[in-house]
Amino acid sequence: MSNDTLTIALSKGRIYKDTLPLLAAAGITPVDDPDTSRKLILDTNHPDVKLVVIRAADVPTYVQYGAADLGVSGKDVLMEHGGEGIYEPLDLGIARCRLMVAGRPGATDRAGRLRVATKFVNTTRRHYAAQGRQVEVIKLYGSMELAPIVGLSDCIVDLVDTGNTLRANGLVPLEHIADISARLVVNKASMKMKSARVKDLIRRLTDAVVTAIPNP
Ligand code: AMP
Repeated sequence: MSNDTLTIALSKGRIYKDTLPLLAAAGITPVDDPDTSRKLILDTNHPDVKLVVIRAADVPTYVQYGAADLGVSGKDVLMEHGGEGIYEPLDLGIARCRLMVAGRPGATDRAGRLRVATKFVNTTRRHYAAQGRQVEVIKLYGSMELAPIVGLSDCIVDLVDTGNTLRANGLVPLEHIADISARLVVNKASMKMKSARVKDLIRRLTDAVVTAIPNP
């Protein structure tokens, strides 16, 4: 993106909805509505600040390569991406949940190689490598809860919020991997080249988070 534009990458859905009030408190409001507009680059009340609305898993990649100067990304996505070329200066405290191993009660108790279905392949491999446990990771793109039910895997690694989805499918949380929330991420070159503007925005968003979070 051009040197005088500040581009912020966001994903549609929960992150967009929860980030909007924080951006508004920091003085940035979109002019276009991503739900009704087909534009991929949204204008804001500042001519030199743009929003790009993309798939959640693509946000770290846009920021890593400098296609966006900043982004808002779930910690789960950042863990999976690896965080190369990216600073993570601020926990926005939104879109909170937990990354967990889940399955039928006792599913991971047995000896031998576990089959784990997940879209978080890298994080799952790291988690079990740290335990020294051999696992076979099966990559899925959604509806992970189905895998243990139909015998595709022993367990799953997935995001859990209320636990309702697990309960509805006869599954229970078995291991906690990480607490998840959305983070502000910044391209490393932008942090240097656009230092004043990026740091000013980080400061404003930090103030917005402190004001917004009732129980940090
Ligand atoms: P729940 O039934 O409330 O435990 O929610 C679990 C379902 O919602 C799973 O399918 C998760 O993938 C999804 N989910 C929960 N929290 C989040 C989050 N913060 N971001 C994205 N997906 C989530």
